[in-house]
Amino acid sequence: MTNPLSDTELCVKCGLCLPHCPTYGKTLDENESPRGRLTLIQAWAEGQLEATPKLLGHVDNCLLCRSCESVCPANVPYGRLVDDFRSATADKHTKPLAVKLKSAAVGYTLQSPSLQRWSGPVRRVLNKTGLMKTAGLSELSAGLPEPFEHRLWQGFHPALGQETARVALFLGCTAELADAETVTAAIRLLNRLGVGVTVPADQGCCGGMALHNGDGANFARMQLRNLEAFDCKGFDAILAVASGCGAVLKEYPEKGFAAKIRDISCFLAEHPWPDSVRLEPLSAKVLVHSPCSLKNVLKSERNPPALLRRIPELQVDLLSKSSLCCGAAGTYLVDHPKMAQALREDLLDSVTACPPNYVATSNVGCAMHLRAGLNLWGLGHIEVLHPLVLLERHCVRL
Ligand code: SF4
Ligand code: SF4
Repeated sequence: MTNPLSDTELCVKCGLCLPHCPTYGKTLDENESPRGRLTLIQAWAEGQLEATPKLLGHVDNCLLCRSCESVCPANVPYGRLVDDFRSATADKHTKPLAVKLKSAAVGYTLQSPSLQRWSGPVRRVLNKTGLMKTAGLSELSAGLPEPFEHRLWQGFHPALGQETARVALFLGCTAELADAETVTAAIRLLNRLGVGVTVPADQGCCGGMALHNGDGANFARMQLRNLEAFDCKGFDAILAVASGCGAVLKEYPEKGFAAKIRDISCFLAEHPWPDSVRLEPLSAKVLVHSPCSLKNVLKSERNPPALLRRIPELQVDLLSKSSLCCGAAGTYLVDHPKMAQALREDLLDSVTACPPNYVATSNVGCAMHLRAGLNLWGLGHIEVLHPLVLLERHCVRL
């Protein structure tokens, strides 16, 4: 059998990826660049280097933003190689206990709907007593939106008027805790546009965090659960509201399933809007952030600004410097807080340069990271939301 890491040989060491790599940009260390990491992985795969903590650390510091992959002329499958390497060396990882506990707590909460339901009151108590800060989770707490009351999502939500398409909605494991308004807005907006929406009850986490942390067995289990929950044949598309989940689902090996996955903004931009739907004017300014998953994997970053420009009077600008990762990257913001915060600072600097009313981003992890930053910088009055929340708030059906 061919070694899956042998594709490191595809790298011709041209270095074109280096200016696009956020960790190289911050450190100017070749070991923290795509080319350097590929060289380390190749040397390990060929038995020339040991998987020392130092070597593992360099690969661990990668955000998996895949900016390098999108500019690579040799089509090196960088993301897949790093996932395979992390999986092959999973037993050699020695993260500090505090980091392991924090990652486990975050992962467990995100995958437990009942725990998420209690997260609002629990968070308030922990914040008040200072325990959130003691546990090193104040950043995460600052990134959560206010709890949003909603009706049960699971089940079928019929189109208003004539049905023109039928989709299934992938919620993602953070929906209850951090993205409830987005999911509710997605269902309402789709229904108004004549789209019937099914929310399968048995779906779960996309598995992205397990995959990128080298936990192949858990990833396979989560993948199977979603494949069983979604009946591909019954839907025109399976829509992901968080682009981070969409990027993982799009690369499930089951082609029939992967082919149906669309980012919700892409679907909304291409679906015909009936004449009975109108967007009310909004005299405000929004800065649009492009998550790496939307840009480098789903290749759909032009859709959110295009959709927002349909709102009359709304000034829509792109968040400058959002060509580089904001630092959220799954559990990266917990595992590598210094780098995650340094990368976020660059983006927040460009927000403060011309403050908007809203920052719109299509990925829940980026939204939490940016919201936490704005709150900590005293800019909590700038609302961070998914583009379709703004669309839905200003959408009327005549
Ligand atoms: S751009 Fe591609 S081929 Fe060139 S150094 Fe980077 S990974 Fe290697
Ligand atoms: S995935 Fe992102 S952080 Fe990792 S090497 Fe590529 S550009 Fe750098």
